[in-house]
Amino acid sequence: MRKKIVAGNWKMNKSWPEAKALAEGFTGRKDDIPVGVHVIIAPPSLYVQGLQHILPSSIAVATQNCSQHDSGAYTGEISAGMLHAMDVKYCIIGHSERRQYYGETNAIIREKVDACLRNNVAPIFCCGELLSERNAGEHFDTVSTQVKQALFHLTADQMAQVVIAYEPVWAIGTGVTASNEQAEEMHAFIRGVMAEYYTSAVADEISILYGGSVNAANAADLLACPNVDGGLVGGASLKVDDFMTIIQAAQ
Ligand code: PEP
Repeated sequence: MRKKIVAGNWKMNKSWPEAKALAEGFTGRKDDIPVGVHVIIAPPSLYVQGLQHILPSSIAVATQNCSQHDSGAYTGEISAGMLHAMDVKYCIIGHSERRQYYGETNAIIREKVDACLRNNVAPIFCCGELLSERNAGEHFDTVSTQVKQALFHLTADQMAQVVIAYEPVWAIGTGVTASNEQAEEMHAFIRGVMAEYYTSAVADEISILYGGSVNAANAADLLACPNVDGGLVGGASLKVDDFMTIIQAAQ
């Protein structure tokens, strides 16, 4: 059975004292996490180790990026092997902000997915279309190209370790969320593309998260869609009560 997952992407937010207080807030509410819902927090990388001491073992820590290389002269980068060594279980790969501001192409993202898998870090692979692409009716093409180019070289066993996050770019940080119908339609489409290339058994095992202005008020409806297996949450993951409400909605 595929996992229900709620992941928080803190992006480049929170001072260290604020980050500690937020983590303490989640730790204080750890008993409110429903059984069967996997919770992941992706803080700024520098905070990972400090927060691992504060967060309960039931909340996994992720990073928001990693290098496609294993080691070497890549100033400022962190390798997937380093993440594994520090007990980081997940890494967000190909977030639209990485694609937009740091020139990450599907080819680079594919290499990062590979780097994660060879180091036992599960990639949370992000895909999603721009508003102009949706308005032009190209959203299915965009997403299937992203998925195929970054993931379809993987074996079925490797694919089973990947978490997919569908994040329409026009919904990220905008307060405009995809409707339940739009989210379900794209998630079912992604699963169908997976089933066609692999098998329906493989496609059925993959968790596909929705991301894009998920909040405490809209989470229950979005996460109730049959092909939506949880959420990747930005802004609302920075507030204990809101994030806990979203986690509970994933049950
Ligand atoms: C994100 O950054 O992945 C995201 C979905 O952000 P927000 O929830 O703020 O739209």
